[in-house]
Amino acid sequence: MQAEAMLQIPRIGMGYDAHRLVEGRDLILCGVHIPYEKGLLGYSDADVALHALMDAMLGAAAMGDIGILFPDNAPAYKGISSMLLLRETDRKLHENGFRLINADITIVAQRPKLLPYREQMRNNIAQTLHIDIDRISVKATTTEHMGFEGTGEGISASAVAMLAQEQGL
Ligand code: MG
Repeated sequence: MQAEAMLQIPRIGMGYDAHRLVEGRDLILCGVHIPYEKGLLGYSDADVALHALMDAMLGAAAMGDIGILFPDNAPAYKGISSMLLLRETDRKLHENGFRLINADITIVAQRPKLLPYREQMRNNIAQTLHIDIDRISVKATTTEHMGFEGTGEGISASAVAMLAQEQGL
């Protein structure tokens, strides 16, 4: 039997998230525990970078957002690692005929310096999504002390993701 010819339709999505920095929480970005005097507040592990990435992926597929997929009043998600949520998001996308082509994340934080953790962040995501590390970009910037990121009140992240949708000819 001849294999069905498939079209690969590219789809782009964007995501944004912000969390408050507080004492007594671990700082976890792209699954990396980063030594710092504060961490991000949230129902899950508050991994703001992965939240932006998941929303970008879901946005590209027009499949809602992580608030719909993983409600923050469901006990199952309290304190959960966002790496697990990323894996589940990816599984749902595959189920619906989507796969990630590449993603680009920007984390906005005045402190701490994130460059030393960048490769580990990229590696975590690439391994979880089973794709080459050169398809995952993680960047970090400051806001020159302006706004909530600049004062250290919180950290934000944005992401874009390109998916391919498999469609029969
Ligand atoms: Mg969030």
